Amino acid sequence: MLGGVGSDGIITLASSVKEVPGVGPRRAAALLELGIKTIGQLIQHLPMRHERLEAESRIEDVVAGANSSARGTVTATRVVRKGKQGRFEAVLVDDTGRLDLVWFNATYLHDKIKPGMRLLVQGKPTQFGPLLRMTNPSHEVLPELGDEPAARQERLRPVYPASAAINSRQIEEAVAAALPRVMPLLHDHLPEGFRKQRELPALADAYRSVHLPGSEAEITAGFRRLAYDELLMLQLALALKRSWTRRTSKAPMLRWTKAVDTHIRERFPFELTEAQDGVIKEIVADLQRDEPMNRLMQGDVGSGKTVVALYAMLMAAAGGQQAAIMAPTETLAEQHLRTIGAMMKGSGVRLELLTGSLTAAERAGIKKGLADGSAHLVVGTHALLSEGVQFKDLAVVVIDEQHKFGVHQRMALREKGAGGTTPHVLVMTATPIPRTVAMTVFGDLDVSVIDKLPPGRKKMITRVVGYEKTADVYGYVRQRIDGGEQAYVVAPAIDAKVDEELWEDAGELPDTEATKAPPLSLAETRDIPPAPPGSGGEKKLPRPVNVAEVLARLEAGELKGKRLGVVHGRMNAAARDAVMSAFRAGKIDVLVATTVIEVGVDVPNATVMVVEDSDRFGLATLHQLRGRVGRGGKGGLCVLLARDTTMRSSARLAVMAETSDGFKVAQRDVEVRGFGDVIGVRQSGMPQFKVVDLSRDMDLLGQARRDAHKWIEGSPMLEKPEEKLLRQRMLKQHGKWLGLADVG
Ligand code: ADP
Ligand code: MG
Repeated sequence: MLGGVGSDGIITLASSVKEVPGVGPRRAAALLELGIKTIGQLIQHLPMRHERLEAESRIEDVVAGANSSARGTVTATRVVRKGKQGRFEAVLVDDTGRLDLVWFNATYLHDKIKPGMRLLVQGKPTQFGPLLRMTNPSHEVLPELGDEPAARQERLRPVYPASAAINSRQIEEAVAAALPRVMPLLHDHLPEGFRKQRELPALADAYRSVHLPGSEAEITAGFRRLAYDELLMLQLALALKRSWTRRTSKAPMLRWTKAVDTHIRERFPFELTEAQDGVIKEIVADLQRDEPMNRLMQGDVGSGKTVVALYAMLMAAAGGQQAAIMAPTETLAEQHLRTIGAMMKGSGVRLELLTGSLTAAERAGIKKGLADGSAHLVVGTHALLSEGVQFKDLAVVVIDEQHKFGVHQRMALREKGAGGTTPHVLVMTATPIPRTVAMTVFGDLDVSVIDKLPPGRKKMITRVVGYEKTADVYGYVRQRIDGGEQAYVVAPAIDAKVDEELWEDAGELPDTEATKAPPLSLAETRDIPPAPPGSGGEKKLPRPVNVAEVLARLEAGELKGKRLGVVHGRMNAAARDAVMSAFRAGKIDVLVATTVIEVGVDVPNATVMVVEDSDRFGLATLHQLRGRVGRGGKGGLCVLLARDTTMRSSARLAVMAETSDGFKVAQRDVEVRGFGDVIGVRQSGMPQFKVVDLSRDMDLLGQARRDAHKWIEGSPMLEKPEEKLLRQRMLKQHGKWLGLADVG
């Protein structure tokens, strides 16, 4: 191992924290529990905030109303009880005067602070008659006279994430002892010229500034440097991956002519919208190049992504090549088959379906067609990824609903290209991806957006309603059913275990919201006190109703006499499909379901949706769900039933009623749940940001992205000698999740 402790106490970043003076086995064990083993890790354990320590003054110089600090001898103490609680009082005296101290609800201090002790206190005193009194001051017991530390200078003290076994002060001591010794070892991976241009401090200075700050400005500059680094590393990794993929893989160049275009469009039963045409233009440009397309198509539910994808697929078919579209569920795959099949009817294009539930014989037949090239288009599930599936000439791959798949599946389908070529990949998602996420997690993709819905859509309305109105809500549902329409009722999952998952998915623990300022300044939210830390904050809401209960309740009550069906994730595919077909055929009036219907299910006659216990769902999920209704020309209604409409959660739900714009909902979701919980982020495997806070560092993200692109343009593999450290650190952080192993 490097370093170790020699007689001169030489330590390195890789040395154990045990070698820091003052860190014994106990503290080392406590640090280990915080994930800190080496000195390098200790240095990277950053303060969450800083508190200002006032310079010490003599008691006679302490004035009311000003934050101040003083030391003296305790001359008297007492406890004053009041009911169960009580306050503790002490008198502090120095040569110049007297200061009264009082701590409320702190009778335990009686055992800690005794007459005769030396004490250093800080607080804001108030005038109390002739006396000056500090309420709830912070305090430090000083060692015996003669052994006392020097008078405190004004300074900013870092406050670290700590634990019961080791407190922030102890961590502070360890860092303060270690940092000066390893400062020279904190080599900067950024060239000096570049760093100066960006007005960033050197790496070692940045660490010193946040751990041992001289001023607020230093803290800001230090954190800015560390945040920039975090963003730059990520953006470099993304840019490098992208440029590497482009250079090392050849994609089939597809031919586009006016005739091809006309031919394809003849298949569509409608004129494409301007928004669709815009995206097609971008895709066509990509497909004509020999670099593989890697594009994300975003478009709200119902925006018409399918035909755009089909356009790309038909460009492959037009040249006698193949295209595949992969859906996250069988239901969705079958739906694509129907839609695409209807448009391809009577053409020479052969379309196949490949899912897990085919018989071995069926599967063999389809696989043969794909391998010999007689099948042109294939719709499938992840079954497409399985070993034995081979294509003769796969040119275009479409992946529907990205967030249900990971980056790795995207790569896996890629490999299916024939003869050393890499197919073009188009990923489509109805989950509006906020800019922050698009620029990070999906940062290696180009992005196209279908930003307008096809014409003739009626407005979709969303209402948040309390449970006391349940009868009215279902009364209205009955009316719509009597008018020949159909409805969905969505409820949380079917059993306790699934409830847990759902709960996690909903991601709305009260304490998360309490710690973030509510982004919408709704009057109702303002009076709710934040949950006290570690107390009831994590407490769960009452158990939500589940699908089975809702079904039973509706059958016996509100929807008695109507034809109800149920689908949920625990049913086998055949049973579920049977119910879905019956619903599509109008043999069922109301489909009671879990979020399995979130994605893609398309029944135009279903115009009403009621979401039970809607507080339990994430906003992105609710947005997806409501996209199921109002797909026909009739205009949809989505009712979000909430337990307690005065709760903070309903303020969160209010955004659903305010806007039908998926991007706004997504942005709100990020604000409420935090970046890490947004759909796609966790699945991606991207490491959590340590310093970066995207609600604060958005401009830094843009800067880092521009810098990274320019950098990689000039040095595609980061192979210059002066880039060695940068490359090493970048690969260490991002090599794995981005699959940069081959690069490294
Ligand atoms: P998405 O997958 O983006 O949610 P779809 O591709 O399923 O949306 O399209 C939603 C509905 O809109 C479908 O019924 C489709 O036939 C229809 N549609 C798509 N594009 C147009 C258009 N340009 N004009 C009219 N209807 C369209
Ligand atoms: Mg779709």
